[in-house]
Amino acid sequence: MKRFLLPMVFAVAFLHARSQDARIQQMVDHVNADSIWSYIETLSSMERYSITEDTAAMHYLFSYFQQLDFDTVYYHHYKDNWIPNVVAEKTGLEHPDSTFIIGGHYDVYASGAPGADDNASGTAGVMEAARALCLHDYDKSVRFICFSGEELGLVGSAYYAEQAAIFDENILAMINLDMISHSATGTEDPEIWYAINSFSGWMADDLQEAIELYVENTTTANGSGSFFARASDHASFWDRDFPAIFLNDCLDWDSPNFNNYIHTDNDVLGTSANNQELARSITQSCVAMLAHYAGISVFSGRNEDFARNPLMIYPNPANQYIIIQAGAPINQISVFNGMGKMVLDQSIAAEYSVKIDISGLGRGFYLLSVISENGSNNQQKLIVY
Ligand SMILES: [Zn+2]
Repeated sequence: MKRFLLPMVFAVAFLHARSQDARIQQMVDHVNADSIWSYIETLSSMERYSITEDTAAMHYLFSYFQQLDFDTVYYHHYKDNWIPNVVAEKTGLEHPDSTFIIGGHYDVYASGAPGADDNASGTAGVMEAARALCLHDYDKSVRFICFSGEELGLVGSAYYAEQAAIFDENILAMINLDMISHSATGTEDPEIWYAINSFSGWMADDLQEAIELYVENTTTANGSGSFFARASDHASFWDRDFPAIFLNDCLDWDSPNFNNYIHTDNDVLGTSANNQELARSITQSCVAMLAHYAGISVFSGRNEDFARNPLMIYPNPANQYIIIQAGAPINQISVFNGMGKMVLDQSIAAEYSVKIDISGLGRGFYLLSVISENGSNNQQKLIVY
């Protein structure tokens, strides 16, 4: 029973907050549609069937979270010869045993399937939420899980939730992202469909509250009565009495926004994953909810003004373009070749995320230098092929 008491108290606290926290708004604004799109593009090109020898996708996710400097990153192996769940945790500084989870499955329904909306998009949402949220520390723990085995019957999440229940883990809430990037034409204003059960209703209230406080131009629709309301990993948590909410691009079969491309070869970027604004809005809502739930720690000063600058460059190796993301607004980007000669130099109008054309650079190793508004000069190796 204690599992239910805490979230109730929590929900009330959140609803009574009703005031914006500038630090949360900053993280919400940090969520970037180009980033989400690039993760979808990368994942779509990878083998992600749960029973496969090709482990590139799981390594990609693992090293992504490692780059973000998470306290804990691990593979949750639950079945021989199946790719594992990939788990990353930001451990709470005050109440490490109280945990909020955001998850999305990365597997696909068949070998070789692109699975862009289903569910490279939700995985990308989890990845981007991690990137935004890692800029602070929290009182409670936040766990990011990329599940496998979903398409074969919610297998990865079922094992995960079962173990969490057996070990009596204090999981206060779970947010599941499955298909977050499709609408009829791709240009519709974001409408977030959600599904809740009898003991998760407070999460729908908090979703609404998070949107009102932090996310622009977005509405919600309740799909709890939909045929698809239990059709993803959150149901594994419901079955173990953990509160959870399912966020999705459309749970109404009759709506023009419903995605009929999924589980086909046409579930690709541009066609099926076509609404950047929607993917961004859903990810932003998650960032706001989780930041409120976990509570920014009073010890989070190390990132107070994004002084700590987690520079990320991808793809790397690259041959056409790179996206550079920094924790502080970028003013200048320079690239030096192996002889120390500057081969590219670009002024930037204080952007957190920049796309740079590197197609003019020859193959080889380069040093990329990023000067931010706060004066920091971050350097990283860039490989062009
Ligand atoms: Zn799915």
